[in-house]
Amino acid sequence: MQSGIVTNIQRFSIHDGPGIRTTVFLKGCNLRCFWCHNPETLRTEPELQIFPDRCIGCGACLERCEQQAHATIDGRRVFRRELCVACGRCADTCYAESLVLVGELKTVAEVVEEVLRDRPFYERSGGGVTLSGGEPLLQLEFARGILARCKREGLHTAVETAVNLAWERIATILPFTDLVMMDIKLLDSEAHRACTGVGNRRILENATRLGEQDTPLIVRTPVIPGVNDRAECIEPIAAFAARLPNLLYYELLPFHPMANGKYQSLGMDYRAKDLKSPGKEQMRALADVARRYGIEVKHS
Ligand code: SF4
Ligand code: SF4
Repeated sequence: MQSGIVTNIQRFSIHDGPGIRTTVFLKGCNLRCFWCHNPETLRTEPELQIFPDRCIGCGACLERCEQQAHATIDGRRVFRRELCVACGRCADTCYAESLVLVGELKTVAEVVEEVLRDRPFYERSGGGVTLSGGEPLLQLEFARGILARCKREGLHTAVETAVNLAWERIATILPFTDLVMMDIKLLDSEAHRACTGVGNRRILENATRLGEQDTPLIVRTPVIPGVNDRAECIEPIAAFAARLPNLLYYELLPFHPMANGKYQSLGMDYRAKDLKSPGKEQMRALADVARRYGIEVKHS
């Protein structure tokens, strides 16, 4: 039975492809973009999120944790993440939802059953299912299993991916995928490495190969202040995208500094917390730059 780790199944999504969709977020990513707004999807393994503001002080977690990860030291409640094995026992006990285990093992059948609940909405709106993450294609067998089963059910299938993996692996999902949405964050490989942890040669090679397939392609750039929010960064990406024969459109997505709480809940440092969103005028100007390459450009 194919199974994988899912962080969330979000119903009624309207930003992850056409129409009303269900977005399935798979856990694990092989990039480390410092602005990532889904930090709970970065690590492959399940992990505990802690929201201290919701704690009602019942103490149930102290009793349930066999690792003593929750403790009271000198009268203060502490959580020792290094002791936690993410068994989820404390989260099951915490009715205040101060503790949440993120990352659940699910089978393909379980995911598809949940996705199919909203079939009438997909049919009415031209929507379907989208796999996202993290990098959904890192759990390739699982991702392909969901896509294949949804296709058999007649649903529109889309994948949000950074395509930072071997082409042979990407190619195996294409027969079951109606739309690929991929990011190009920067064209310069060293700058790309500095802010995502990896160079972009393989990403661009895969983008070129994807551009030659029958599956429609949307290229997107998250616009991050100080990283790529200038015409000289967007221009070469738009020029590259314009050479992809199956490009549907190019999209610019403004950075939003909204993930601070999530980073805190996971004990992670949010390096983008002081960045501001690019303004509407700036997004419009960058979109105009991209349009010079004769492609359709969307922005928000
Ligand atoms: S079980 Fe939840 S509400 Fe109770 S003390 Fe632990 S964290 Fe707080
Ligand atoms: S998830 Fe398990 S190991 Fe981690 S703190 Fe909770 S009970 Fe302890």
